[in-house]
Amino acid sequence: MANISVLPHELADKIAAGEVAERPSSVVKELLENAIDAGGKRIEAEIKKGGISYIRVTDNGSGIPADQIETAFLRHATSKISSLDDLYRIGTMGFRGEALSSISAVAEMEVITKTPDEDEGVYLSIKSGKCCEKQEIACADGTTMMVKNLFANVPARMKFLKRDATEAGYITDLMGRIALSRPDIAFSYIVDGKEIFSTAGDGNLKNVVLNVYGIDHAKALLDVDYTEDGIRVFGVAGKPEISRGNRTRQTLFVNGRYVKNHVVSKVVEEAYRNYVMTGKFPFFVLGITMPFEMVDVNVHPAKTEIKFAEERKIYEIVNHAVKNALYCEKNSCQNKNEAEKVSYVMPEIPRESGSMLKFSMPGKTELKYTETLPKGFTNEYLKNTLPKSVDTDKCEDEEYKVFDSINLYDEIKKNTGEDTLGDIHFKEQEENEELPPSLYDIIDEQPELKTEIVGQIFDTYIICRRGDEMYMIDQHAAHERLRFEKLKEAYRKKECFSQVLMVPAVINTGAVERAAVLDNLSVFERLGFKIEDFGGNSLLVSESPLPGDETEIQNLILEIAESAAAGSRRPIAEFEENALDMIACKYAIKANKKLTYEEMKDLTDRLKTLEDAGITTCPHGRPIKIVFTKYEIEKMFKRKV
Ligand code: ADP
Ligand code: MG
Repeated sequence: MANISVLPHELADKIAAGEVAERPSSVVKELLENAIDAGGKRIEAEIKKGGISYIRVTDNGSGIPADQIETAFLRHATSKISSLDDLYRIGTMGFRGEALSSISAVAEMEVITKTPDEDEGVYLSIKSGKCCEKQEIACADGTTMMVKNLFANVPARMKFLKRDATEAGYITDLMGRIALSRPDIAFSYIVDGKEIFSTAGDGNLKNVVLNVYGIDHAKALLDVDYTEDGIRVFGVAGKPEISRGNRTRQTLFVNGRYVKNHVVSKVVEEAYRNYVMTGKFPFFVLGITMPFEMVDVNVHPAKTEIKFAEERKIYEIVNHAVKNALYCEKNSCQNKNEAEKVSYVMPEIPRESGSMLKFSMPGKTELKYTETLPKGFTNEYLKNTLPKSVDTDKCEDEEYKVFDSINLYDEIKKNTGEDTLGDIHFKEQEENEELPPSLYDIIDEQPELKTEIVGQIFDTYIICRRGDEMYMIDQHAAHERLRFEKLKEAYRKKECFSQVLMVPAVINTGAVERAAVLDNLSVFERLGFKIEDFGGNSLLVSESPLPGDETEIQNLILEIAESAAAGSRRPIAEFEENALDMIACKYAIKANKKLTYEEMKDLTDRLKTLEDAGITTCPHGRPIKIVFTKYEIEKMFKRKV
């Protein structure tokens, strides 16, 4: 074994830097937090090439005294805490004293700073963690931090970075959220020489929403403001119509700090339960203020994850605050706290390991069978989990078919002998006779391998029977896959599937989305969109692969842009598949839609091509159909052991 030795200082710093300076956006975050802590009322952030070549954050805050500037770059150097007690009263963003030392270990830095007390400012440059140059300089009060050539000396980390546009996207997202968390600060944000957005710093959160997310969001906001036991929940929640297919537009800040807390999202979503479709997530920008000792922000080095001391109570208050806002909107009431206090139920976190299958049938004898099975449950699963001694292939055999028939008790007796039969089978036999007739149709023996449509249940699943199999088809999953394959084929052959819109659609986006769309115009073009910059925060769409209405086209474009911004490191083909899937998804028959027999027939007929190609899931990987063999059904009813 190699000798144990203490790491050289420089190496240790680089390792520590990995925690704080993970990627350009985390560097920007640290610099912005320092600027906010310094009391800056005007903060400007500028980046070039996704922040990798250049990051600048300028504030008009307190500045750093010239004689302390080097100290600020030492590890564990902070002006924010000096004792353990302070840790529990922390009201500032930073306090670990690690950011500047970490960043300077992985990039070149330059600082220009001046405190109001000093006449001259100071300039300092740092390379490889060491001060290079220090000189007096004439400048305004406040601090400018510049970071250049990030990770140039850490090739391993560099490799993990995504393309510039993606890294810029992360920073844009972060900038937006930080601006939302502090409406009292005027932020301005510049990417590659172009201002993406700026906020007024007038303290009005709705104005910030307008600047960051655009007019559509700003027009659809509900005020949230509720205080209980010294805990205040305030901000804005989106009206249900601006809910999205993901959570990227949910922002939470606690005591002024932008944080992530998955449970708070769930708790807010629970408040929306009857207002928003499943699969859609509400928009919100919520702040929680509470006594500092109730928060533990020190759980994660980058300090975005957060833990609360009295979790349950906080969740209840958040839930109630949002319910109030929704209730007031619906009932146009004056008193904001009029909504009845509803006792709060922890939202159910979906079980990872299995899904619940419930079979319940109407009729005199209600039979219920509940079993927990892994996701993607198929008859294959059941076959594999059958006791080893049972030959599953036998379910096709005559011997087993005997059990299939309903009025064949005598025959069973004749064929298998009383011993193997037992009372229990006989009793089930009687129960079966009371089942509603539709079930007979399913269980009844019909040997020809034609697919027969039994019907639709829950307006979502088509029940079919083919030979010895009964199966349920998820109509949306099936149709989405069919559309997807068709689009993919057309895309591959470069066939045009876009349509010129009679009336071009004008979409109003926020700064973040606009940047994501414009960064990916060529992708949109290949997908059949013709999009032009329409000035301000608007885009003009004149061609679209989707004949839908303006809102539908807008939602689709924004969703694609979001996924382009988030996942661009994946091979482009995969991203495009994803976009095609979004188009397919919008086209496809939805769940909760009654289908005519002809529609069901058309869908099931077309599924055969997918079956032949071995495709069994929708593009997201959900199964298109679940198959139950007669044998499996019998096992469930304990007709078979
Ligand atoms: P922390 O923020 O955890 O204290 P940092 O490494 O981020 O640690 O910063 C070290 C110190 O440098 C801060 O405590 C603060 O005194 C000073 N500092 C950093 N950035 C600024 C700024 N923009 N304005 C004024 N002081 C700053
Ligand atoms: Mg800091």
